[in-house]
Amino acid sequence: MRISHSLLETYKQCPYKYKLLVIDKLQEPKNQDAVFGSFIHLILHWFYNNHPKFMSLEELLAYYEQKWDDLRYIDFFTKKETKLDDRYFQDGKLILTNFYNTNKPNGFCDYAVLDLEKRFEVVLQDKKNELHILSGIIDRIDKIDDKGYELIDYKTNKSLPSLAEVTRNPQLNLYALGIKQMWPYIDISQVKFSLYFLKFNEKITINKKEEDLKKVKDSLLKDIEKIQKTKEFNPKPSPLCNWCGFKDRCPVFKEKYQNNDINNIKNQEEIAKLIDQYFDLEDQKRGLERQIKGLKSEIDAYCQANNISRVYGKQGYFTRESLDEETYDWIKVRELLRPLKKWNKLLTVQKEKLDEVLKEIPEDIRIEIERTKTTKKTTKIIQATHYKDLSPFQNGDVKDNKEGLKLEAEDSLLEA
Ligand code: SF4
Repeated sequence: MRISHSLLETYKQCPYKYKLLVIDKLQEPKNQDAVFGSFIHLILHWFYNNHPKFMSLEELLAYYEQKWDDLRYIDFFTKKETKLDDRYFQDGKLILTNFYNTNKPNGFCDYAVLDLEKRFEVVLQDKKNELHILSGIIDRIDKIDDKGYELIDYKTNKSLPSLAEVTRNPQLNLYALGIKQMWPYIDISQVKFSLYFLKFNEKITINKKEEDLKKVKDSLLKDIEKIQKTKEFNPKPSPLCNWCGFKDRCPVFKEKYQNNDINNIKNQEEIAKLIDQYFDLEDQKRGLERQIKGLKSEIDAYCQANNISRVYGKQGYFTRESLDEETYDWIKVRELLRPLKKWNKLLTVQKEKLDEVLKEIPEDIRIEIERTKTTKKTTKIIQATHYKDLSPFQNGDVKDNKEGLKLEAEDSLLEA
């Protein structure tokens, strides 16, 4: 299988989106954030492409403004060529200014840019000796001292991840494999792996060890195997759907984006009314359930306080019952059954299995086991019966209950 790192991550994010991109070979319409991110990458690529000659900040911003004027994207809703919002322009200027000031070459540079947008491939062999090729692109590779390297990836994320999240970042894991495949003599512990979060002007750097690479390979092969075994590429809705360019094709958002003809809009309005009705009824149901529960516990408390097992109303009656649960002294049972080699037959302690075993053992032992039986606890249940639900015969016992509530005291309940 040949797959890029970003597609592998897309599969993990949403198999349905992966299917649209890989199997249906569709191009994902980009949203403003994605267009802006690619644009900033392009500007920084230009900036470092002149290395070792560095532009001044003014030159960098002038190039940015010039390129900004040509920047267009296809709007997701209107499907028309559109310019990015002005706030992105201001954001970009700030990002580049901060970046420049932090990484100002000052005519002297303590690092050498080895490569930009470096494409690499990693070959992995699975247990069945099948070869898989994973590809990726590293934004920038620097040589930082005699032996060291730094791999840098630019991010325009709106939030700053924790160090732990960066450590787990699958992209950096793949970079580690990539650089090792490109330059096998490199000592991975001498390589810095950095994600540069441009909006915050923060670079988070981690290190990796040679022994990490095996785990990375295994995990990538597992992901590949999962993709190969997938028969149904189902949508996996998540907060990331907000940035998905396929919402108009996705079954999850179908109702929202597809078939906007007048009839369908009418249907949508009708279904929306039904959904609202449903939730109104659900609310009412919850309220009624709360009331019913309250009434039941009041009636139960009344029965308990007065030691009554049945109370009557005009429409039905409530019965308070005790349920006895029998159990055995399992330690004794084990002692008795072990010599007969019947204990293992129970495997787990289950009364149903014991009932079976009891039929197979000598009478005296069976009697001894029965003696270990105790009533564990009494569960009280209160049950409402509506006369409508009773057969005519069953109804007979309350037919003459005309005067309203009639209480019937019964024998005391068995308590354990
Ligand atoms: S909108 Fe969400 S669920 Fe649908 S394809 Fe995109 S990521 Fe998947």
